[in-house]
Amino acid sequence: MRIGFHVSISGGFSLAVQRAYESGCTTMQIFSRNPRGWTVKPMDQADVAEFKRLREQWDIGPVFVHTNYLINLASKKPDLYAKSIEQFVIDLERTEKLGAEYLVTHLGSASGQEEEWMIEQVAAALNMAMKLHPLKATILLENTAGEKGDMGYRLEQVRQVMDRLKDPSKVGLCYDTCHGFAAGYDIRTKQGVDALAGVIEGTVGLDRLRGVHLNDCLRDFDSRVDRHWHIGEGKIGEEGFRLFLNHPAFRDVPKIMETPKETEEDDPKNLRVVKKLMKM
Ligand SMILES: [Zn+2]
Ligand SMILES: [Zn+2]
Repeated sequence: MRIGFHVSISGGFSLAVQRAYESGCTTMQIFSRNPRGWTVKPMDQADVAEFKRLREQWDIGPVFVHTNYLINLASKKPDLYAKSIEQFVIDLERTEKLGAEYLVTHLGSASGQEEEWMIEQVAAALNMAMKLHPLKATILLENTAGEKGDMGYRLEQVRQVMDRLKDPSKVGLCYDTCHGFAAGYDIRTKQGVDALAGVIEGTVGLDRLRGVHLNDCLRDFDSRVDRHWHIGEGKIGEEGFRLFLNHPAFRDVPKIMETPKETEEDDPKNLRVVKKLMKM
């Protein structure tokens, strides 16, 4: 079972993989650049080579890259929509240069627009990006909490986007447990976890579930509020994670924690809890 954290790229990609190794990760997630700005610095070839060498040496993988937060593939503003596609392509290129396996993206939002319109908009953006940059990596669409008009809080919406892609084989699902819980997928009971596995199988298919964002949720079930929390200490709780982590549909899927890092102790603690719940 592969488990890791989202780690900082401050100081370079080779330092990121070092951070991942030191915190006991067997998989990892990074941003490919500053996630809250449009400006992009060219990648340092030596740093990228060292990143690849170290992840090989320490057997850390798959590597997930998360897209920039400003990207909105569903935007109704033509300039932001065009910019988002351009920036998404930059993230794709950087994902490939790093030799990372996956690029995780949210679907975006467009308040006031019909759902059908947003689905078409996102699919068109993904088709355009994949045409501009044919890829080896796989794009993973992440479910959202459905906050402020965010798309993708129902797995049916993710499926509808995939149905409109020219090459759907290059696109899978990254399931976020906090977002799912906040959007009404309850994993606190065995029946709930079975039901979620059934919904994934019935929409995108379990074979397309390539990654999990393993986060507890600070806010209530179905609250539509996205606040990640420490594993077992939020509203999902230890029993929910025990059931989810040991379920055959989810057990072997690589998992990335995006849990709060307030102190140095937070990551080791969350990793210990996951290992305890999985009896690793
Ligand atoms: Zn996530
Ligand atoms: Zn989140």
